Amino acid sequence: MTSLTVKTAMPVARCVLGLATVFAPMVVAAMERPVSTRPGPAPIVRLLANLNDNKQAKPATVMELVWKGADIDGDGAPDFANPTGGQPRGHDAFGDGWFGARRDAGSRDHEGVDYTATAGQDVHAPVSGYVTKIGYAYAGDTSLKFVEITNPALHYAARAFYVTPTVEVGDAVRLGQSVGKVESLQSHYPGITNHVHLEILAPGGDRVNAAGLIKPTMVAKVETPDTAAD
Ligand SMILES: [Zn+2]
Repeated sequence: MTSLTVKTAMPVARCVLGLATVFAPMVVAAMERPVSTRPGPAPIVRLLANLNDNKQAKPATVMELVWKGADIDGDGAPDFANPTGGQPRGHDAFGDGWFGARRDAGSRDHEGVDYTATAGQDVHAPVSGYVTKIGYAYAGDTSLKFVEITNPALHYAARAFYVTPTVEVGDAVRLGQSVGKVESLQSHYPGITNHVHLEILAPGGDRVNAAGLIKPTMVAKVETPDTAAD
């Protein structure tokens, strides 16, 4: 019995020794580099997962046009805003929209900047302050109005023309806040590019070029993918 036990025990011991010889280096390797030897998904599965991650999670960077208002009091915040978000009006049958453009065959200059707009859209306060006047753009014509906002700290005022106001004289308004809706100019000037005519009055009352105070800049905008599709 004893000799039999020894005989049968010998191959078992040899086998254990053999397994130990095979696995010992792997155990050592696993201890040295535990991450790399951890069992994971097959390489093709990992590759597909990576491709999918790149497609879904990579944020897209797009360039966006932003109108930047001048900071004239140096507090780090803009003091002016584009009333419509549109470009200054270019040339059409009624002339040009830039400051100083010819009007009435050259007898007078255009004293504002025309910001292109869609009739009915919001008009944003070009300065912060108080509504100091709501008037008519043309004498004897009650269809087209303007809103005047005065900033008592900066001593600047802004008049936005061709606006149906949603504010009243005396209201306090924040920069960029909606103060009304853009009126259509088509019955007055058929075919003209609809716009808001903006006059900026500097301290003392002189009209200055709004385009020098409200400038377009291109900024990079990171668009994160919309993952909440449900
Ligand atoms: Zn104009």
